[in-house]
Amino acid sequence: MNPETVTIIGTGYVGLTTAACLAHLGHRVHAMDIDTDKVDALNTGQVPIVEAGIDRLVAEGLSSGRLSFTADYAVVADATITMLCLPTPPKPDGGLDLAYVESAVKRIAPLLSADSIVVTKSTVPVGTHDLVRTWLDRSDAHAVSNPEFLREGTAVEDFLAPDRVVIGAANAAIGERVASLYSRLDTTIMHTDPTSAELIKYAANTFLATKLSFINEMSRLCDHLGADIDSVAAGLGSDHRIGSAFLRPGPGWGGSCFPKDTLGLCHLAQTTDHHLPVTEAAYASNQLQLDHVTCEVERISQRPLSEVSIAVWGATFKAETDDTRDSPALDIVARLTQQGARVTVYDPIAAPETIPARTTEDPYSACTGADILVVLTEWAEFGSVDLDKVAAQLGNPHVYDTRAVIDPAAAEAAGLVLHRLGKPAERRP
Ligand code: NAD
Repeated sequence: MNPETVTIIGTGYVGLTTAACLAHLGHRVHAMDIDTDKVDALNTGQVPIVEAGIDRLVAEGLSSGRLSFTADYAVVADATITMLCLPTPPKPDGGLDLAYVESAVKRIAPLLSADSIVVTKSTVPVGTHDLVRTWLDRSDAHAVSNPEFLREGTAVEDFLAPDRVVIGAANAAIGERVASLYSRLDTTIMHTDPTSAELIKYAANTFLATKLSFINEMSRLCDHLGADIDSVAAGLGSDHRIGSAFLRPGPGWGGSCFPKDTLGLCHLAQTTDHHLPVTEAAYASNQLQLDHVTCEVERISQRPLSEVSIAVWGATFKAETDDTRDSPALDIVARLTQQGARVTVYDPIAAPETIPARTTEDPYSACTGADILVVLTEWAEFGSVDLDKVAAQLGNPHVYDTRAVIDPAAAEAAGLVLHRLGKPAERRP
């Protein structure tokens, strides 16, 4: 492998993981961010995100001298490859805001050395590759699309052992240069054109979101028909054409990617007079799941929400991350509080200032006097709590576990009445 000198622009979940992993693979990496506090912290080894293995890789990169952090765009002059890992937040109309990407590309354009390759790792609407080339306005620089598929919580593992690496380049030799960054990984490198690369990322996220919407619909139907969602999911997932991944029901999907990418794809299609009825329905169905869980809390409590005191466990959009962006848990907390419920939230990691309700530092205090405990994130710690202590704290014994993390037998032994998504049979006398 020929080590490259790489600049990463943006040191969030994607950028920091990419920087630390590429340094681990032997490349020389300058990671650039406009957030000077973050840059200063990273240069002293303080990692601002919670991600398994990242602290170790950042420390390794700093001590080897292969990884450094800066707030100065000029660093791109030293690199052969510059990777854009910038936010692409949703706009009110459902489209994606490319302002971060545009402004960074215009800032680096005059600083790049000849023959530089600018790689877009951010998730961007199809067609952005051409915009990047326009913003670069340099005939001696190349643009490549290399969408990132890592998942928060397992970002390092996903980066170092990806299912595939997708490289969309108009020029095969330039695509090979980008592929060489990953040559030490045991994975499939898929070379394609930039437009297809951009669409693959959208298609992947939208398909996964659709699969979740489908199993969540089945859980609602199970609640209605008296079927058992675990049996349905097992029977469905054992068909190899379907597969068992992403067939676990929950309170609705969220996070910083699925909602914005699903809406972004619909918006993109609409701008070219196309409609994506399956994708649109997947999004609408997810809203129904959030409604369903909120209504179930009221039904189980047997009182109007304005009279109910609720303990919530979980604020992040899934376990093993500190990210609460577009979290279904917080969406449901907001719905409950808007209807007058008194909500107290416990989450093992989420920053209290991101939670729109009272918070506690341990799971038991959140339950004090509550009429119901609602579990909204699948933190493993929730499966090993002392349920006798929970039962002693709760005012009423109801637990609504939307993530199936609490052991039904242990709950029953503690005198709790456990309600789960798509498991109505458990509630029969
Ligand atoms: P993030 O919000 O965690 O990080 C973005 C970083 O960019 C921040 O540190 C911010 O300070 C920095 N930044 C903003 N403007 C800048 C500028 N002009 N110059 C330099 N730095 C700047 O974002 P993220 O979650 O890492 O996502 C980045 C992109 O990757 C998005 O397009 C996202 O959709 C996509 N993506 C995210 C994930 C994920 O799981 N988070 C997975 C795959 C793809």
